[in-house]
Amino acid sequence: RTVYVNGEYLPETEAKVSIFDRAFLMADGVYEVTSVLDGKLIDFAGHAKRLERSLNELDMRKPDCFDDLLEIHRELVRLNDIDEGLVYLQITRGAPGDRDFAFPPEDTAPTVVLFTQNKPGLADSPAAKTGMKIISVDDLRWGRRDIKTVQLLYPSLGKMMAKKAGADDAWMVQDGFVTEGTSNNAYFIKGNKIVTRALSNDILHGITRAAVLRFAREAQMEVEERNFTIAEAQAADEAFITSASAFVMPVVEIDGVALGDGTPGKRVARLREIYLDESRKAAV
Ligand code: PMP
Repeated sequence: RTVYVNGEYLPETEAKVSIFDRAFLMADGVYEVTSVLDGKLIDFAGHAKRLERSLNELDMRKPDCFDDLLEIHRELVRLNDIDEGLVYLQITRGAPGDRDFAFPPEDTAPTVVLFTQNKPGLADSPAAKTGMKIISVDDLRWGRRDIKTVQLLYPSLGKMMAKKAGADDAWMVQDGFVTEGTSNNAYFIKGNKIVTRALSNDILHGITRAAVLRFAREAQMEVEERNFTIAEAQAADEAFITSASAFVMPVVEIDGVALGDGTPGKRVARLREIYLDESRKAAV
């Protein structure tokens, strides 16, 4: 694989980052994951905008290559011959010469790393036909989940708790209400209405979420952005998650309770189809 590190395209075995990098020592970094379909990037503009916001919220300097990020994404897709897959991008506060809680000097260059993940069949995932089983776990993350930081230990633990329980993923619950999935936003459908938690510092402002809610409204579905409980989702007709890598994925079971007849529902399938069609058309 050819990867990008601080201005250079290199074989992955030759790419190096300092042991003093702030992300390595303190999770002081932000990231984005953009999907690739037909060799093109899905909603790059949305990801670039959220990245800029994450950097701003953490007082992190924009790297000099910021305006070239689209070209860098495209070049990596080309060099690695990706038809379907993902591009991972990470920017950290850089690598001062030592460990220190205080931010490094202003002139410390951010670390910029990008790599591709080849995933043939990403859009045709079997999970879209079988649906996902979800368990609920306490949301024990920090209070600024709207910033897309590389601080992913708790989501990783949540995913492992799900696997151990024979499920596919976990929805996190805070004060009795679902926040989001370990790496996705969470929804249920009752009648013609989609319910999902409103945007705040409690959840990541999903790029896929914004697109899917727009398409849903255009398709005359009702959208309600509010808190909801696991019990309410269990009693729903359908449920689903969204993310840049999973697109729209049906949920068929929550904490052992099957939704509807326990198979993926029609409305979620339709939303997935619309999302994939429209995203492919707008890809860059
Ligand atoms: N919530 C969390 C916690 C996530 O990690 C992700 C994916 N990175 C999402 C939601 C979905 O965001 P997006 O649609 O932008 O991938």
